[in-house]
Amino acid sequence: MLNRLADYHMHTVRCGHAVGTMEEYVETAIARGLAEIGFSEHVPMYWLPEEQRDPTGAMSMGEMEAYVSDVLRLRERYPEIPIRLGIEADFIPGHEEALVRLLEPYPWDYVIGSVHFLGDWNFDHPDLVHRYAEWDIGELYDRFFALERMAAESGLFDILAHIDLIKKFGHRPDKDLSQAYAALADAIAGAGAAIELSTAGLRKPVGEPYPAPALLKACCDRGVPLVISSDAHAPGEVGWGFEQARDLALRTGFTHTVRFEGRRRRPEPLA
Ligand code: ZN
Ligand code: FE
Ligand code: FE
Ligand code: ZN
Repeated sequence: MLNRLADYHMHTVRCGHAVGTMEEYVETAIARGLAEIGFSEHVPMYWLPEEQRDPTGAMSMGEMEAYVSDVLRLRERYPEIPIRLGIEADFIPGHEEALVRLLEPYPWDYVIGSVHFLGDWNFDHPDLVHRYAEWDIGELYDRFFALERMAAESGLFDILAHIDLIKKFGHRPDKDLSQAYAALADAIAGAGAAIELSTAGLRKPVGEPYPAPALLKACCDRGVPLVISSDAHAPGEVGWGFEQARDLALRTGFTHTVRFEGRRRRPEPLA
């Protein structure tokens, strides 16, 4: 049983690349013994003109309202488990104001910040993996970590998702990453954001959670708060790999995860 653990990273069919009903996500969470959950659908592609928004990448602007009311309605229907209202928001430098305006009307429990784009390249999209060949992988990692640091420093996000997502398909630079890890962990600690230990990486070609053990440790050493997340895109992925993730978090030195309500956080013992 996954007692004490919360899963705050769950998608819905509205993003165009997830399956199952929202009820199935909730019922899986209850069956697996999660203490708390939250939905975090992909934010509409606010930084692009409407005709360039990919309907298989995120919910549309017109769906925001219904997404929020669906989560609030589920909260009434399943009093046995706290259901939080979250969103996974892309960090796109230069578009911070638009994101703030888009999120402003809704009662979020937390906002998850993600870097999925380098320029126009959605680098974690399986159909675009060929574009890794255009890069020196060391330079690509530098670019990615620079953006991830900016996302942290923006102060827009309560939680940063998959903070080394650039490794998703197994591309690894020759160079040592300890400087990049230290700089990112410093930025996150300075900004006061939490990070995810995401089991999604275990289901991807890289075969390793996000973040890598050394980056997780760098964050732990600086007192960065932690959540454990599945990034579920199917009901069966809710809470997936969480026992393993809890063991990893404890071995790394974390003693607590954090819970969110109304964009305020409180610690919860890990074990
Ligand atoms: Zn997704
Ligand atoms: Fe993501
Ligand atoms: Fe996600
Ligand atoms: Zn994600």
